[in-house]
Amino acid sequence: MCTLKRFDRTCEIISNKEICTNYFELKIKAGNIAKYCLPGQFFMIGIPGVFLRRPISVYDSKKNVLSFLYKVVGKGTAILSRMCSGQLQVLGPLGKGYDLEICKELNYVIVAGGTGIASLHFLAIKLGKNKAKKRTLYYGARSKKDLLCLDKFKEIGWKVVVSTEDGSKGYKGYITDILEEKVKDSDVLFACGPMPMLKKVVQIAKEKKIKGFVSLEEKMACGVGNCQGCAVNINKVIKMTCKDGPVFEIEEVEL
Ligand SMILES: Cc1cc2nc3c(=O)[nH]c(=O)nc-3n(C[C@H](O)[C@H](O)[C@H](O)COP(=O)(O)OP(=O)(O)OC[C@H]3O[C@@H](n4cnc5c(N)ncnc54)[C@H](O)[C@@H]3O)c2cc1C
Repeated sequence: MCTLKRFDRTCEIISNKEICTNYFELKIKAGNIAKYCLPGQFFMIGIPGVFLRRPISVYDSKKNVLSFLYKVVGKGTAILSRMCSGQLQVLGPLGKGYDLEICKELNYVIVAGGTGIASLHFLAIKLGKNKAKKRTLYYGARSKKDLLCLDKFKEIGWKVVVSTEDGSKGYKGYITDILEEKVKDSDVLFACGPMPMLKKVVQIAKEKKIKGFVSLEEKMACGVGNCQGCAVNINKVIKMTCKDGPVFEIEEVEL
């Protein structure tokens, strides 16, 4: 049973491996932190030589080990990618995660774009234990090489449908191009990815009356609601992605 707890702790790096070009899986010794993490939550990771910590979602959490999956995009993640050992200051778990109670005995889908797959992977692991009728991952990326952890989803019994913008694997185009038709029998939808994808997902889910959740990835500096850098307009109310989200109910968002 998880209760909401937050830690600010120095953790040792176990491994930090490039799983494919520009994508890394980082594992840290997290002690008891690991058992308090819910899918959709994230950590603010302090990177040596970088002023602000960077938010990264929980990719997996078991046996005192926390895993993160990240893409190298700028200075912080580039420095992080060169750290094979040593220690990292991590603050978390932060934010509100996906509601798992909603999923019992239902057909559900996950829609992922880019590195949005990270938090959804942890969600799938947790959902894997529920008795669902159908579980499908719809996953879009730029190219075949950007499609991550497909085998992990298949191993835990998920049907996987992919799209790539360059057509190197699966449907050629955006995953949202094929979503409308495919999700019509689904009861619950979970999505994380770039904002244009989420906008379309929210529109489709609302039209089809599918309930669910989207996880937003706004830039944030503090991760705990103080800096207000990650403010978003949710149903005409200003909310903080870090504290009120990053997971929001589809019903309440207008992206
Ligand atoms: C909740 C959440 C979860 C995420 N999970 C993942 C994940 O699992 N995997 C993954 O690959 N990516 C994830 N991201 C995106 C990831 O945080 C960015 O890719 C990362 O921060 C980039 O850092 P960088 O230094 O490499 O890039 P840069 O583009 O060089 O750095 C980003 C810059 O923006 C600055 N900044 C941040 N917040 C603000 C702000 N509020 N106002 C002004 N400047 C700001 C930073 O300090 C930094 O200088 C997540 C983002 C969020 C919000």
